[in-house]
Amino acid sequence: MANPLSLYDNYTRTQRPFEPIRPGAEVGLYTCGPTVYDYQHIGNYRTFMFEDVLKRVLVWNGYRVRHVMNITDVGHLTSDADTGEDKMETGARRTGKTAWEIAQLYTDAFVADLALLAILDPAVLCRATDHISEQIAFIADIEKNGYTYRTADGIYFDTAKQADYGYLARLDIEGLEGGKRVDLGEKRSPTDFALWKFSAPGEKRQMEWESPWGTGFPGWHIECSAMAQQYLGDYFDIHCGGEDHLPVHHTNEIAQTEARVGTRLANFWLHGYFLLLNDAKMAKSAGEFLRVASLVDRGYDPLAYRYLCLTAHYRGQLNFTWDALDAAATALDRMRHGMHALREAGTAAADTTLVARFTDQINDDLNLPRALAVAWETLRGDLPPAVKRATLVRFDEVFGLGLGTWRPKLEDVPESVRTLADARAAARKAKQWVEADRLRAELAAAGWEMEDRAGGYALKKRTQDRAQGRARD
Ligand code: AMP
Ligand code: ZN
Repeated sequence: MANPLSLYDNYTRTQRPFEPIRPGAEVGLYTCGPTVYDYQHIGNYRTFMFEDVLKRVLVWNGYRVRHVMNITDVGHLTSDADTGEDKMETGARRTGKTAWEIAQLYTDAFVADLALLAILDPAVLCRATDHISEQIAFIADIEKNGYTYRTADGIYFDTAKQADYGYLARLDIEGLEGGKRVDLGEKRSPTDFALWKFSAPGEKRQMEWESPWGTGFPGWHIECSAMAQQYLGDYFDIHCGGEDHLPVHHTNEIAQTEARVGTRLANFWLHGYFLLLNDAKMAKSAGEFLRVASLVDRGYDPLAYRYLCLTAHYRGQLNFTWDALDAAATALDRMRHGMHALREAGTAAADTTLVARFTDQINDDLNLPRALAVAWETLRGDLPPAVKRATLVRFDEVFGLGLGTWRPKLEDVPESVRTLADARAAARKAKQWVEADRLRAELAAAGWEMEDRAGGYALKKRTQDRAQGRARD
């Protein structure tokens, strides 16, 4: 028997057993989605893949999951302090398109990337701009309960009204108050945040709506409280996002929902830690960032990046390097070829001992690095081939690497290379070792590596050539 699922909850700061709030019902999972003013970078996708793995692990444990993800297409300002421009309007200016057009463009690009990374579609993918009336109703209730005040530029949440405001991130409110360097304007406290922002006088925004308080647009945090409530109810099982959401976005989502209905929104709060690039934060606002397309352009399979993410625990930061991606690509390649070699092994049941050991790892707060080690042990071990294959196919329900269906792309190998490889295989068979070595060197000069396998061979483009391709662009 394997251990039951336990997850690290950032609200209680403990790893504790996962029990659904409503036994037998679907597990409610809300994950904060992309802000669609630009492409998502591979850092964003590290978080989305962690959430995907979480969902797969829940399913592995027999739960049905209702996964809701939002699309932030309005209200996310360039500064977390409720100042600056709406990122959508900035994106519109940068591209010369309308805010509505870029929202669609980058939403489509996001959905396409999800498929490339084998991230399962959420049950509900909801746009903030499709839920303005729900957000207005939410704010109206918060106002009725006495948590708001009005300034010249919007309706604000009065965080001083909540004794436990900031608990999720263990915010040092007094420290924040003491260090008031920032110009608060009419805000009463640095932690207060906008629920509704007014369009500036005389300004016609591309995205604006009528409301009981004046024409304008919702603050960023309210969309998640409102849509989570609409699709999952007042209190649901798990809420996720990146680690940057702890001190502001999730803190404020909790404040809003507590102010409206008295619950703290979700039972478990899980956060994906950042992907770093050269040990610095990878951020869209920093200008240069890597997209899934940047990896594909350099000859990588997007699933090599998925594999790389599986090699690091989600609760630690991961520094991206091309060498690390090369190593992941090579490991994935080996795993795929290893599985492919077992394709004619016939059918069998998965090995129960290995499945239990694998379950122990994934159920220990999603320890995917250790789960991968169990997969390698399975592949390299001496179980009957059919059992190996069945066991690895099961593991792949969590990995999402498509191990069971992968086939080598024969058509990618040029005819001349295949002829050389066939000649070398024939030379080996005839024990003509000198000729075989000569042909191997010829293949290498053409940029190909040949691996001998039982009953045949596999051809691989040499990694150095991939790396050189990278340096050229
Ligand atoms: P955004 O499009 O900025 O709203 O971010 C989408 C998701 O990516 C959120 O859950 C963020 O917390 C997360 N995120 C942002 N930057 C990174 C990063 N460098 N590494 C991992 N996750 C990130
Ligand atoms: Zn959110």
